[in-house]
Amino acid sequence: MSRYIATRAIRGATALVYEAEQLLNKALKELGPDTPVQFTNTAYYLPVILGLTGIEVAKLGDMPKVLERAKALLHPIPKDQVWLPYLGETLDSGIATLFAAELIEGIRFAYGEQPEKITWGGKIAKGGSFTSPEFEGEGGNGGTLNGPIDDIQLRAWGIQLVDGRMPGFAAIVGCAKSNEVAVEIVRQLQQRNILVFLSGNVNGRSIIHQLMEEGVELGYDTYTVPFGTDTLSAIYALGFATRSALTFGGMKGGMARDILLYNKYRVFAFVLALGEVDDLKYAAAAGAINYGFPVIADTVIPQILPTGITSYEHVISMPFDEIPGENDLERAKRLVQRCIEVRGVKIKVTEVPIPVPYGSAFEGERVRREDMRIEFGGKKTRCFEYLRMANFDEVEDGKVTVVGPGIETVPEGGAMDMGIVVEVAGRKMQEDFEPVLERQIHYFINGASGIQHIGQRDIAWIRISKAAAEKGFNLEHFGKILVARFHADFGAIVDKIQVTIYTDPKKIEEWLAKAREAYNYRNQRLADMTDESVEEFYSCTLCQSFAPNHVCVVSPERLGLCGAYNWLDCKASYQINPTGPNQPILKGKCLDPVKGYFDKVNEFVQSASHGSVQEVSMYSIMENPMTACGCFEAIMMVIPEANGFMVVSREDPSMTPAGMTFSTLAGVAGGGLQTPGVMGVGKYFLVSRKFIAADGGLKRIVWMSSLLKETMAEELKAAAAREGDPDLLDKIADERVATTVDELLPYLEEKGHPALTMPPLF
Ligand code: SF4
Ligand code: ZN
Repeated sequence: MSRYIATRAIRGATALVYEAEQLLNKALKELGPDTPVQFTNTAYYLPVILGLTGIEVAKLGDMPKVLERAKALLHPIPKDQVWLPYLGETLDSGIATLFAAELIEGIRFAYGEQPEKITWGGKIAKGGSFTSPEFEGEGGNGGTLNGPIDDIQLRAWGIQLVDGRMPGFAAIVGCAKSNEVAVEIVRQLQQRNILVFLSGNVNGRSIIHQLMEEGVELGYDTYTVPFGTDTLSAIYALGFATRSALTFGGMKGGMARDILLYNKYRVFAFVLALGEVDDLKYAAAAGAINYGFPVIADTVIPQILPTGITSYEHVISMPFDEIPGENDLERAKRLVQRCIEVRGVKIKVTEVPIPVPYGSAFEGERVRREDMRIEFGGKKTRCFEYLRMANFDEVEDGKVTVVGPGIETVPEGGAMDMGIVVEVAGRKMQEDFEPVLERQIHYFINGASGIQHIGQRDIAWIRISKAAAEKGFNLEHFGKILVARFHADFGAIVDKIQVTIYTDPKKIEEWLAKAREAYNYRNQRLADMTDESVEEFYSCTLCQSFAPNHVCVVSPERLGLCGAYNWLDCKASYQINPTGPNQPILKGKCLDPVKGYFDKVNEFVQSASHGSVQEVSMYSIMENPMTACGCFEAIMMVIPEANGFMVVSREDPSMTPAGMTFSTLAGVAGGGLQTPGVMGVGKYFLVSRKFIAADGGLKRIVWMSSLLKETMAEELKAAAAREGDPDLLDKIADERVATTVDELLPYLEEKGHPALTMPPLF
């Protein structure tokens, strides 16, 4: 049977390589060889080509040599009688197809034809939108699709991919049997937190059209990325896979074998081909098989069963009439289940007994005012949440109580006060874990489709959509969600849990006062906690699955560079999983209190980095700085001319005075290596007393992304005052005033920036 696939894949590859050649010749003639070629917001050129060949395609003139590589991989199209015993030809054709597809997309970018603009018949369904920044505001019945995923987003997802919260991705190509089936497939994947990449069409109709018509919110926030409506745009999925290996796996362009193996063993992904499979789709599927990604089709196609390239079957066919009498939705569910089984990863789905779909993919969903049934908190009402430890006998496990009126007492679009009080008991529970667990309420509640949760503590703000309310979602379900998730995710420290939802005004007053007392107490306790006040720091090696030699050392005054793990988080995580990635490190002897050297920390890092790092200083960037994986929230780099450092945030796409954008800098900062003068940091480290204390602290910062200045204004101001320079923030330049050293220096002079008169860094 593989002969049939080989024939079609070779045919598809040959046609596409030919098409790429025609297009390239035309583009070279019309635009010229020096015309730049660039995918948006990535530092990885055409990533599949970079990864597999090492060739950096930056202009059209760089393309012919890639085309030659693609041609060299083509095989003669076999006659029917010829028996092809190996997968080799199919695989070669796959790679040739990927090269040709990426070249064509590159050429389209050169012509300004990508990302794709689309329009669709009929009106966009209510609430339907595509939430890419370009699309915002366009509305109506058209917009710009996503095109390739940018580096910023890849890194933002990094930590979730690393820690397994996001198991991997599904590349869906084609068009589902019906809109209803399209929605069901995507919802099933979202509920498992699997990223969904959408591309392709069948006779001009794409699953992207189907989802938009049904009002499914597409975009990074909901884990659903519409690449484009043709098959070629599926190349962006493999570009994403390749960049994962380059970004997190520390691999370099040209390490084809390593990159493909990395994906086979570490990236959980599969292709789901919906509808008829033509030659090009066969050829593209052959490309995916090279990455170890199986292809599952919902039509009758020949199967390729295991031979060692994918861990399981390479190509699976699951036609519609397989089980007589099965309805379309049941079958859609089974299709997703089959994909997951074939790829062979266990995915834990927590059963949450509520009337709407549930999963982290719904965390980013927004509920607009016009789609809202009711809100709690925000401008008009109050909403707070409070989690506290209680004695075993005070907690009735699983009990959810609503005290006060329900949402039916409030007219549509209205608001009411609410307080969520969670009481947990557990043998391993500690008071210190209260804030760690309380913070989870945000993620847990947001996981429900049609529910939006913003903020925490007494500034929580929750909305229930009309759609969710119509399905029966009510107050009690907040409690059900929390009970299910705390048991599932924190079972090691939470033995019993009960939840009370207060809407009764008297009770709200009473509990809000108790909650505020607890918040204050915790603030004080955290503020009092210093590196000196504890005996142990914690390691985090979670990112070693992607960056094998990287270790974060997390102390009370220095959080992990991803921003997601502080000292308390690590401590709680150690309790939950004593053999996990967060281990206590007894500080041992302090060798240098200023630079932050501790003998046991050094010992730990030596062993955990497999000897690649000998010493680490906790408070210096200039001497043995901490290494970085790839998920840093911000990157710092020395600006020698200014006698200081700049900090660029992950969300900032602009050029920096270091002559590099965040994406380029990330290549310098990551990979688990120590580079004095360059360091990845969690953004809250900036306001710590220990922030590069050995190099002069916050006063050394001469440039900072405006986004950081704005989103952390209060905290930065307080830290500046503490450092003895309350106006420091105004003296620090940003991308609005300087993107080069030449622009930076006069600004610092004019503002009298303290770094200029500090001791020389070199
Ligand atoms: Fe990765 Fe460090 Fe964050 Fe741990 S703390 S998840 S190692 S970046
Ligand atoms: Zn990381």
